[in-house]
Amino acid sequence: MSTMRITLIGRMAALVTALALASTLTSPASPPTAAAPTAPPTVATVPVAYAGTVYLTFDDGPHPTWTPRVLSILRKYGVRGVFFQLGQNVSYYPSITRSLRSYGNLIGNHTWSHPNLTTLSTTSVTWQLNKMESALGYRPRCVRPPYGATNSRIASIIASRGQRQILWTVDPRDWSRPGTWTIVNRVLANVRPGSRILLHDGGGDRSQTVAALDILIPKLRARGYVIGLMAC
Ligand SMILES: [Zn+2]
Repeated sequence: MSTMRITLIGRMAALVTALALASTLTSPASPPTAAAPTAPPTVATVPVAYAGTVYLTFDDGPHPTWTPRVLSILRKYGVRGVFFQLGQNVSYYPSITRSLRSYGNLIGNHTWSHPNLTTLSTTSVTWQLNKMESALGYRPRCVRPPYGATNSRIASIIASRGQRQILWTVDPRDWSRPGTWTIVNRVLANVRPGSRILLHDGGGDRSQTVAALDILIPKLRARGYVIGLMAC
């Protein structure tokens, strides 16, 4: 049901893009000149075809500098993402978390303090998840274990809480600050329909991530991708 809805929304978005493109191309045509007959044939105006839906996710926030900048880029393009937040940071900056939610973004549980859950006892794993949720004020639908470190025990703890474990499929390693264009190009080289893209709004200087996001969203759209929102 929700997949079908996302697909429909995606097709509608692609159609809107195509209509906007068509109106741009048919607006003020330049008058014909003497050079016109020898000009190369115009490339056919093929509208951007819907290529699939991809999802943006942001880990390790909220951060007082970077999270509002990420939000501002998302708002600029009218897209939303899932923010896998640390309970500790939520407890420091609850208003930033509220602001994300007020613009339709979703929050996921990324634990209280970012431990490798596979090294903890089941009691400690549960404590990490509960403590984050008490800072947040509710139980989010999605959990992302720090470092993506999980196993069947962690997965079943998450499932027993009625939650979904959400990892990622595209990781440009933005946290290592490889350069804005490296982040952009790594995503573009690996993105597929349904990709879950991992970015970070916390844990250090995220200026490259913010700059990359501003380039990435229009480039993904130009390839026919729709930025969707995971059901978290
Ligand atoms: Zn993390």
